[in-house]
Amino acid sequence: MNHAAAHLARTGLFFSHPACLGHDPSVYSPGHPDTPRRLIVLEAALAERDWLGWRQLPAPALAPERLELVHDGAHVSRIRELCAGGGGAIDPDTFVVEASFAAALHAAGGACEMARALIAGEADVGFCAVRPAGHHAEAERSMGFCLFNNVALAAASAIAERGAERVLIIDWDVHAGNGTAEIFRHRPDVLLACIHEQDLYPGSGPLQDAGSGEGEGYTINLPVPARSGEPLWSALLREIVIPAGRAFDPDLVLVSCGFDAHAADPLANCLLQTSSFAHIAALVQDAARDLGAPLGLVLEGGYDSAVLAECVCAVLPALAASAGAPVAGAAGGEPPRAAPRSGAPAGARSAGSEGGLQRSDEEVLRRARAQVGRYWPL
Ligand SMILES: [Zn+2]
Repeated sequence: MNHAAAHLARTGLFFSHPACLGHDPSVYSPGHPDTPRRLIVLEAALAERDWLGWRQLPAPALAPERLELVHDGAHVSRIRELCAGGGGAIDPDTFVVEASFAAALHAAGGACEMARALIAGEADVGFCAVRPAGHHAEAERSMGFCLFNNVALAAASAIAERGAERVLIIDWDVHAGNGTAEIFRHRPDVLLACIHEQDLYPGSGPLQDAGSGEGEGYTINLPVPARSGEPLWSALLREIVIPAGRAFDPDLVLVSCGFDAHAADPLANCLLQTSSFAHIAALVQDAARDLGAPLGLVLEGGYDSAVLAECVCAVLPALAASAGAPVAGAAGGEPPRAAPRSGAPAGARSAGSEGGLQRSDEEVLRRARAQVGRYWPL
């Protein structure tokens, strides 16, 4: 462990781009949950709060050939041509319009640029508010509202282009990140830890799937039952993901940051509250800081626009607050830490603070510990 991150600038970097609003699946699928409104409402909420002190940066377009860091060139060409021809359906969930290709390039480019800036030491935390999302996109297949895999591109770019040796990806979107898992399943330089609601779309990610070949052990799948809440999600992070991540010793931590495990989300059945996301973000930020690794979050799902905005407004202050770092330079403007460091929970939350594990949660934890403990010291 070291504290290399301690000298880094305390201001978080916030990446977004108006091109991401051009992707509008509702043109072909009226009422589609992935609407540009998700980002419009989010950015309005942040603007009202002066961006919570974060530095706003444009998410640059990725050069299309760099998509081949993780994607098949012929697949990229097919998506590009579909968009250029006016768009249409890729599958029953996934639709593109002409502007979707540019949106996807800015989404991927924002994630890659964030990884670059973090590795260069320009900040120790970043957030990428982009769409389309990415974690369902496989090397040769776009699906599940996702065209190209933004977080996988950021990880692959960090390693291939920016000198990182190991990248930890934590996927806390409520759906399993099948694309990220497929792309890295043979690689020991990317550790993917994925918490997701079991039996939900896309149906991948059983506990027993640990990756394969040289990558065996470097995929951690943590399915949770429907109606799981913060106690189980945070326990899995604290007791499984973070200890494994610590042993892996990454140079960069990325989060596939979905907010669809929120109790109000229309597409899933978990019970996290807005404050839960602040708490789990703080857990991950503390772990990243302990490791001296910068932390970058890439937006994935979250389909109630108002709730998504509320969650991001809760998460950014939790990320910017620092565990034990000098507060001297903060000039009183530092938002309070969202999660308690230890000891008693800071407030009674319906879906739980520390503890509050039900017997069924304990069983999930026990099985996860047995599986992941085969590969990592927990
Ligand atoms: Zn999702």
